[in-house]
Amino acid sequence: MQKTIVHGLHHVTAIAGDARENLAFYTGVLGMRLVKKSVNQDAPDTYHLFYADGAGTPGTDLTFFPWPDLPRARPGTGQIVEVMLAVPPGSLAYWQARLRASGRAFSEPETRFGETALPFEDPHGLRLALVETGDPRDFTPWAQGPVPPERQVRGLHAVRMWERDLAPTEALLTGLMGFEKRGTEAGWHRYGVEGGGSGALVDVRVVPEGPRGRGGAGGVHHAAWRVRDDEEEQALRRRIEAAGLQPTPPIDRFWFRSVYFREPGGVLFELATDGPGFAVDEAPEHLGTSLVLPPWLEARRREIEATLPSLPAP
Ligand code: ZN
Repeated sequence: MQKTIVHGLHHVTAIAGDARENLAFYTGVLGMRLVKKSVNQDAPDTYHLFYADGAGTPGTDLTFFPWPDLPRARPGTGQIVEVMLAVPPGSLAYWQARLRASGRAFSEPETRFGETALPFEDPHGLRLALVETGDPRDFTPWAQGPVPPERQVRGLHAVRMWERDLAPTEALLTGLMGFEKRGTEAGWHRYGVEGGGSGALVDVRVVPEGPRGRGGAGGVHHAAWRVRDDEEEQALRRRIEAAGLQPTPPIDRFWFRSVYFREPGGVLFELATDGPGFAVDEAPEHLGTSLVLPPWLEARRREIEATLPSLPAP
């Protein structure tokens, strides 16, 4: 029997500052579609906003807990320090002009493992990079978006993390999750799963004396990896548990089912099923237009809606 492995990034969740600024940047500037407007299930007085491609395809989704009063994150070890987003080949000039027009600063494009990357920060300090790639991806354009379909963000490309030690994290990635080492460049070790195309990559930098990262606005909360179904999730969960990593029981997030665990260096990982997907509780053409609450919070809808800041219609 073949060993169960992950199938690339499912989503990345980060902490933002003001919800309106977050929405304006990711939909208005980056042109991603708000596919789900919900609340933090553990703190329902804060939003959980999901930005993705036009259909909310797994692997395209960057989500945020906007928490306006939280101090800024401090980058450090045991943390994801950058999220790379895939854009089509030849589109970085368009994106530089678009970021400039929006007043957002960016660094010089750099070459990483043969790909061109444009690093910048979102309005609350989250480090992002747009990376040109021609790798085939599951992608549905957002027809109503402000960015032409041929320039739109294709989804998550890779995450970069800082670690104190390489060996324990490498052992998890390669021994358990199915990654292979792709190479080392400029201090970054790159790992890819199932061929390591766009969306199936993680870069690790070893910073032995680096400060321990601290969560906060502009910080990444966790990265979720794709599993096809509950069966695969359970199989991987059992192996993670056998490796001594204390995974949570599967948690029903309605649009997918999740298992969380910390990798040996401290980064919070999640396994998330591909289904049932964002269209399970909203018609595909209306994704993200109304506040979606889990059933156990429906009774408190009025109170919750009164607490949340109002957001303009997308
Ligand atoms: Zn998650």
